[in-house]
Amino acid sequence: MQTSATPTHCPYCALQCGMNLTPVPGGTVEVSERADFPVNRGALCGKGRTAPAVLSNRVRLTTPLVREGGTLVPAGWDEALDRISEGLRRTRTEHGPDGVGVFGGGGLTNEKAYALGKFARVVLGTSQIDYNGRFCMSSAAAAGTKAFGLDRGLPFPLEDIPRTGCVILVGSNLAETMPPALRFFSELKENGGTLIVVDPRRTRTAEQADLHLAPRPGTDLALALGLLHLVVAEGHVDEAYVQERTDGWEEARAAAMAHWPEQVERITGVSVPQLREAVRLFCAPEEAMVLTARGPEQQSKGTDTVGAWINLCLATGRAGRPRSGYGCLTGQGNGQGGREHGQKADQLPGYRKLDDPAARRHVAEVWGVDPDALPGPGRSAYELLDALGTDIRALLLMGSNPVVSAPRAAHVEGRIRSLDLLVVCDIVLSETAALADVVLPVTQWAEETGTTTSLEGRVLLRRQAITAPEGVRSDLEVLHELADRLGVEKGFPTDPEEVFEELRRASAGGPADYSGITYRRLAEENGVFWPCPQDSPDEEPAGSVHPGTPRLFLDRFATADGRARFAPVSHRAIAEEPDEEYPVLLTTGRVVAQYQSGAQTRRVEELNAAAPGPFVELHPRLAARLGAAEGDPVAVVSRRGRAVAPARITTAIRPDTVFMPFHWPGEGRANTLTNPALDPTSKMPEFKACAVRLEAVRT
Ligand code: SF4
Repeated sequence: MQTSATPTHCPYCALQCGMNLTPVPGGTVEVSERADFPVNRGALCGKGRTAPAVLSNRVRLTTPLVREGGTLVPAGWDEALDRISEGLRRTRTEHGPDGVGVFGGGGLTNEKAYALGKFARVVLGTSQIDYNGRFCMSSAAAAGTKAFGLDRGLPFPLEDIPRTGCVILVGSNLAETMPPALRFFSELKENGGTLIVVDPRRTRTAEQADLHLAPRPGTDLALALGLLHLVVAEGHVDEAYVQERTDGWEEARAAAMAHWPEQVERITGVSVPQLREAVRLFCAPEEAMVLTARGPEQQSKGTDTVGAWINLCLATGRAGRPRSGYGCLTGQGNGQGGREHGQKADQLPGYRKLDDPAARRHVAEVWGVDPDALPGPGRSAYELLDALGTDIRALLLMGSNPVVSAPRAAHVEGRIRSLDLLVVCDIVLSETAALADVVLPVTQWAEETGTTTSLEGRVLLRRQAITAPEGVRSDLEVLHELADRLGVEKGFPTDPEEVFEELRRASAGGPADYSGITYRRLAEENGVFWPCPQDSPDEEPAGSVHPGTPRLFLDRFATADGRARFAPVSHRAIAEEPDEEYPVLLTTGRVVAQYQSGAQTRRVEELNAAAPGPFVELHPRLAARLGAAEGDPVAVVSRRGRAVAPARITTAIRPDTVFMPFHWPGEGRANTLTNPALDPTSKMPEFKACAVRLEAVRT
C-alpha cells in the first residue's frame, strides 16, 4: 500500500479545493491540508474534509446488481454487462438508435464526459444525450456565449476578486456552497472594496455584504434593468468603451430606460434608495465585477436575466478589462469541463457545436468515423427525462440522481419507472439506482485519475491515491466493455491519460482548446487555464509551451468581430406567479453540509448530524398565519405535488417566500414541487421560483 500523501482535489464542488490524501488501513484515506493550491490554500469545508467516509462506507456498492423478479440481486460483471448490451441492442433494433438515451453528470471527469459523449454518438448512434449540468449553469453559459462569444464560468482567476473595487454577487450563497471562497470577498473588503449581495434570503453570504438587496424570487431581471436605468440616468455609462468594444447598446439602453426605478421597486420589492445605493457602490470604483450563480440562472428566463447583468458590466466598461468583468460561479465539481467535451445534447468536444459541419468533420476524423454518421443535436435534460418510457425506451445513466435533483421529480420518477431498461453506474444505491434494472459499482475520486476543470476554467489533475475495492470498475472500463460487446472494439481506452490525449486532439482549434495541456504539465503546475492551444506540435510528447489563459477578453471578445453584444432584454414574469390558490413563492437551494442530491453526503455521519433532513424556511408572519411553530411539520403544495418538512422560522426570508433545500428524497423532496418550465434558449428549468400554498399538518 502506498503510504505517501497524494496531492489531489476535492470530489465535490467546482472550487475543486486542493487536498492531500494519505492511504490508511480500511480502504480509505486521510485528508490533510494542501497549502500550495492558491484557490483554497489548505482550507476545506466539512464536505471536503469528510469525503473519505464515502470510500469505505458500509453502503458502498462493490458488486453489480441485476433485477430479478422485481428485486435487485448481486450478479457477476459479465452477466450484468451482457444483460445491458443485449437490452441496448434490442432497444436499438425495435426503436432505432434514439430509443436509447444517455444521461451524464457535471461531476464526471473530463475523460468520462468525453468518453460518454463519444459512446452515445459512435457506439449507440443516439442523439438523446444530455446531463445534469443543464440544471446548473446553462443559462449563464448561453448568456455568456451570446455576449462574449465564449462561455468560461469565470474569465479571470478568483484571486482577482480582492483586487477589484466592488462585486455584485447575484443569487449565490457561497458561504454555504463553497465556504473557502468567502475569503476572496473578505479580502476584497479588507482592501477597501465593497460587496453587494442579491438574494431573497439574508443568507450567511448576505450577512457579509455592505448592501443586501432582497428581491422577490424571479425578479432579478427587472432589478438589473432598474440598475442599468440609474446607471444611464446618473451618467455612469462608459461611452468610449461602449463605442469601441460593444454592439447593441441602443436597444439595451432603450429597454433599460423603460424600467423606471419606482416600477422596478414595485416588481422586485427593492426600494429606490437601495437601487441608488447599489449603483453608487458599483460605479464609484474604477473596477467592478458581477458574479451570478443559480439564483438568476435557474429561471425560465435565466438567459435573459444573466444577459441583463452582463449589460450592466458592458455599459459601465467592466468586462474584458483587468480586475473587472462578469463571471458565473459554476456549481458542480466538473460543471465547467462537463459542459465542454460532448455530453451536452448539442455539443462536441472542445465546446464545438454539433450542428457545425466543420466541427463534425474535425471530431469525426479524430474518432475515425464518417461525419455524416454522427447524429444531430438531441433533447435537453428535462425534455429527455420527460420522454423516458415514450420514444426513449432505455437509459444509461452516469453520475446523476434525477429522482432527487430533477424538477417535477415525482413525474420524472414515474417516467424513469416506465423504461424498459435502466442502467445506472454509481458508487452507492442512489434513489435513481434503486429503480434500475442493472446497477454497476464504479470507482470514485480517490480511486481513479482524471482531470476536472474548475469554475475558474483551470484544468486540474485529480490523482489516484488508493486502489478501488475488489469488484468495482471505472466508468471508462464500463464504456470499454459495453462498446466491445456492441461491436466497437477500438476507441474506448480504459487509461484516463490515453483518453485525455485523444480529448486534446478532439478539442484542438475549438473554443475550449486543451491541446497544449498534458498530464505531465498538470502534475507539475497548479492547473492550466484553457484555452491552451498546442503552440508547437514538435514538442510532443512534452506538451506545449503555451502558458494557458487565466484572463480572457482583455484584447478582444471571442465573437467573430471581437466586440461584445448587449442583450436586448425586458422584464417578464416567472412562468407561474402566485394566485389565490397558490399564494406563496417557493425558492430552493442548498445547505453547507450536503451536496446536490445528497447521494454521497447523506451517507456521511458528520454531515448528516449537521444537516439531517429537509426543512421549510418561512417568515414569522407566514408561520403565524399558518399557526405553525418552530419544528412543526408544514406541507408545501404546488401544482405538481406535495412535500412535508419541519418549519424553520426566521426573519431572514421575505414574508412572501418560503425556502426549501433540495438534497433529500421522500416526503420532504423539494423537487416534487418545482416547475419544469424551461428557458427557451438554455432549456434551464425554473427551480428558483414557483407558486405554492402552505398547509398545517396535524400530527
Ligand atoms: Fe470541496 Fe467545494 Fe468544500 Fe472545497 S468548498 S472542500 S471543493 S465541497
